[in-house]
Amino acid sequence: MNYMDLDNLKFLLFDVVNLQDVLKFEKHKDFDLEGADIFLDGMKDLADQALYPSFKEMDEKPAMFREGRVVIHPQLGEIFRQVAESGLIGSHFDPKHGGMNMPHVLVAAAEHILHCANNNAGPYLALTTGAANLLTSFGSDELIETYVPKMLEGKWMGTMSLTEPEAGSSLGDLTTTAVPTDEGYFLIKGQKIFISGGDHQFGENFIHMVIARIQGAPEGAKGISLFVVPKHRITAHGFEPNDVITAGDYQKLGQRGYCTTHLMFGEHNDCRGWLVGEPNKGLKYMFQLMNQARLEVGNLAVSIATAAYHASLAYAKERSQGRRMTKEGMEAKEQTLIINHPDVRRMLLKQKSITEGAVALLLETYKYYDLVHCTEGEAQQKAQMMLDLMTPVAKTYPSDMGIESVSNGVQVLGGYGYTKDFLLEQYFRDIRITSIYEGTSGIQSLDLLSRKITANNGQAMMVLLEVLNETIAAAKGKETLQPYAQKLEEAIGEVQKVMEHLLPYAFQKQYERFLANASLFMEMTGHILISWQWLRIGLAATEKLESGEMRWPAAFYREKIHTMKYYFVYELPRIKGLAETIRTKEELTIKKEELSIFD
Ligand SMILES: Cc1cc2nc3c(=O)[nH]c(=O)nc-3n(C[C@H](O)[C@H](O)[C@H](O)COP(=O)(O)OP(=O)(O)OC[C@H]3O[C@@H](n4cnc5c(N)ncnc54)[C@H](O)[C@@H]3O)c2cc1C
Repeated sequence: MNYMDLDNLKFLLFDVVNLQDVLKFEKHKDFDLEGADIFLDGMKDLADQALYPSFKEMDEKPAMFREGRVVIHPQLGEIFRQVAESGLIGSHFDPKHGGMNMPHVLVAAAEHILHCANNNAGPYLALTTGAANLLTSFGSDELIETYVPKMLEGKWMGTMSLTEPEAGSSLGDLTTTAVPTDEGYFLIKGQKIFISGGDHQFGENFIHMVIARIQGAPEGAKGISLFVVPKHRITAHGFEPNDVITAGDYQKLGQRGYCTTHLMFGEHNDCRGWLVGEPNKGLKYMFQLMNQARLEVGNLAVSIATAAYHASLAYAKERSQGRRMTKEGMEAKEQTLIINHPDVRRMLLKQKSITEGAVALLLETYKYYDLVHCTEGEAQQKAQMMLDLMTPVAKTYPSDMGIESVSNGVQVLGGYGYTKDFLLEQYFRDIRITSIYEGTSGIQSLDLLSRKITANNGQAMMVLLEVLNETIAAAKGKETLQPYAQKLEEAIGEVQKVMEHLLPYAFQKQYERFLANASLFMEMTGHILISWQWLRIGLAATEKLESGEMRWPAAFYREKIHTMKYYFVYELPRIKGLAETIRTKEELTIKKEELSIFD
């Protein structure tokens, strides 16, 4: 089915990101390229048969709160069963925790296929995996044994329960409390809102990873602890209720098949939670899940944008309208297909370059995740710095530019793009959330500029530059790629000038001024990292064409080089305008004198 291009995914994973770089480690000795290839084919079959057919209907018959319980689309139960059977849930875990040490980058490629087919289904299981991963990383053996096996079977579902009515971006202000008891558990009391996958008919139990403040703990982020709070307590005879009440399910703009619940903990003072790890370290632990979830959201966003691209591409190849403005075209009796109009081709190339570039960026980021877990010493430190620095960008670029990309997809269809006759309007609504949950784009941008770029006294930035320069040097070795390597070099120069302008504000502790345009800085960084990926794609394609060792027809590789050129000519130059705005002396967004509209 035509919602993604499996050949493209394989090319990016095997020839650009080089899956082999992680397969060579002992940890992944059970995997090889041939097996990975077959595994991805199997995932596509699963997606075709179990996920894609119900995608539209999940929007038309959304998750609903009925009689104290959330009811989700019936096919989701079947999807959970089949995905669990495939072994994908927790497959990157250590075998001692029920996993098989599959490289995370390969898992991410598989999830991309599932999300392209149906972005309302996969996230339920991704969150469950994330919650289980938190337990295996920081929980006691008892907690792991109690919860993780059932979660990996897809029978018990996991959630990430952070957000409260007054604490969204600012989690340090949460008010949920945890009171210790002599029985070893804590009594949890508070409300959590917007909790994805928090309750439905296909979870025998729900394992909520809840952050709360232990009585007497410090104010702010330093006093937050992590608890595992099941919906049902486990007894010798089965389950008993744990005083977790589902108060409702939010009706949303998009992702309507993916439920978003409002949960109340301890309304009857009988909600028990078990501490995970040490007290007051909850936010630090949770960051592990949040970082993974950020990459998950990036993957989800690019998957939606990918499916939208393929839908608009298919339409453009069938829809006739107008005539080409060539001599023959203007004299033609028949109308031409819209794919022949330069402006439509521009919109399609835009989508293609954003989505394929972003898939490459995400896979590369996941590869660094794997390298952190396979390497030691300096190599590990470098991989960690790259992972940390790339994570906020790998969440934000696919989300923000993915929205722009899908919007172009709607435009390709003209009036039909706005109707329910085609999937584009659903993709457009579905993707909108990705810039909001898991930390808004604004919050990711603050993180990038205030923490990640400056981390380890700027060492992370130096490591990134080193890696970028390696690609630039390799591309300069190919005559046809030299102009593009040069453009990336110049673009990096623009970012360095922007940093020279901004850093003095940080040194003078003018933090508001330093960070006022963090989102623009994020946009610049996104374009740089995607151009880097396109240069790598261009290199890989050029090498294949030169060597003749091609798995796909030559046209496949030439098309990659063409799209790379598009990105460098149409998208990368945007950073010049962004740089000019960031370096302006005007301070138009900083609150100073009264402004009638804002005061
Ligand atoms: C569909 C859906 C699913 C979700 N799933 C989950 C889930 O599973 N678990 C969970 O815990 N939460 C979940 N959330 C919550 C989500 O993570 C938050 O909505 C998000 O982090 C933003 O918080 P908020 O809504 O309180 O917005 P606010 O924090 O009020 O932000 C509003 C605006 O102000 C900006 N802003 C806020 N603070 C600053 C600042 N310091 N500097 C600059 N700008 C700022 C933001 O960028 C944003 O544009 C979900 C939300 C939705 C809508």
